[in-house]
Amino acid sequence: MLKENLSKVESDIRMACKKCGRDRSEITLIAVSKTKPVNMLQEIYDERVRDFGENKAQEICEKYGQLPDDIRWHMIGHMQRNKVKSVIDKVCLIHSMDTYRLAEEINIQAKKHRLVMPVLLQVNIAGEQSKSGVAREDALLLAEEVSRLENLRIEGLMTIAPFVENPEDNRIYFREMKQLAVDIKRKNLDNVSMEVLSMGMTGDYMVAIEEGATMIRVGTGIFGERNYGKV
Ligand SMILES: *Cc1c(COP(=O)(O)O)cnc(C)c1O
Repeated sequence: MLKENLSKVESDIRMACKKCGRDRSEITLIAVSKTKPVNMLQEIYDERVRDFGENKAQEICEKYGQLPDDIRWHMIGHMQRNKVKSVIDKVCLIHSMDTYRLAEEINIQAKKHRLVMPVLLQVNIAGEQSKSGVAREDALLLAEEVSRLENLRIEGLMTIAPFVENPEDNRIYFREMKQLAVDIKRKNLDNVSMEVLSMGMTGDYMVAIEEGATMIRVGTGIFGERNYGKV
């Protein structure tokens, strides 16, 4: 079942790449495994997926010890500062850095572990009340402030686009994200590169790829619907 889901996603990715003349290797598929049991993650791992996304620090810590250590864990959820400590040495990328205070804490914990933590700046590109992320207008200023911190490195931008029926409705937001990345890159800030654009989920990843996504985060499309009631 999961294998078929994954093949479908994989062929969609290839189709989107073909449509816009990109190479499949430019896109990292992150399997978003939140709420799913480790045996399902193992099944996808056995299909050679190595990038997994989770939105809770505690869930990363629980699953981390039970699965192979060559998995790259991505923290994609809103983060409280007191949770940074527990995942700093377990995740390969924090997608959800959106305040200076959070960046400061990541910097402190990274320093303790003598590492430089790669992060993405999360942008609330559609200005939705319900979503975290820095406002588009404030993104450059935050990048400038964070660029002074030595133990973290902003590798790009992340967004969660609005929930829409028609993925075409999000094209404008993906395009704005790409433009914002270009604008920030142009400033040549220390510790800031803009190589990564994490955008596109089950409903809209093909459009996101066409607009320049380098990481797509797919949960439902691979693992099926999430049942929060049972967890
Ligand atoms: C849950 C989640 C996803 C995956 O959503 P699907 O619609 O199930 O693909 C992607 N990104 C973030 C930040 C999430 O929390």
